[in-house]
Amino acid sequence: MVELDIRYCDKCIVKKSYNNDYIKQQRKKSEWELFKHKARCKVQYAIRSGKIKREKCKIRDCDVLAEAHHEDYSQPYNVVWLCKQHHTEYHSKVLA
Ligand SMILES: [Zn+2]
Ligand SMILES: [Zn+2]
Repeated sequence: MVELDIRYCDKCIVKKSYNNDYIKQQRKKSEWELFKHKARCKVQYAIRSGKIKREKCKIRDCDVLAEAHHEDYSQPYNVVWLCKQHHTEYHSKVLA
């Protein structure tokens, strides 16, 4: 997929500069958080700029406008559409 022109949100920029001289043991975790955040950020930006269309929840009989869930954060545009409720349920099941 063509890489979009991404302007990261303030949180990304702050975290990025913060990362440079961040303590090493905390760094791995924050890098992973940043990685995940960037994927979400990219989707948000793509939705706002009309490159990706926000879809409805993929759960059967659920007709709510969804948010993007990532199975694989290294593929930011490969998303599963789940509404807030089903998204939360999904994560609580997966992480349980
Ligand atoms: Zn998710
Ligand atoms: Zn749903």
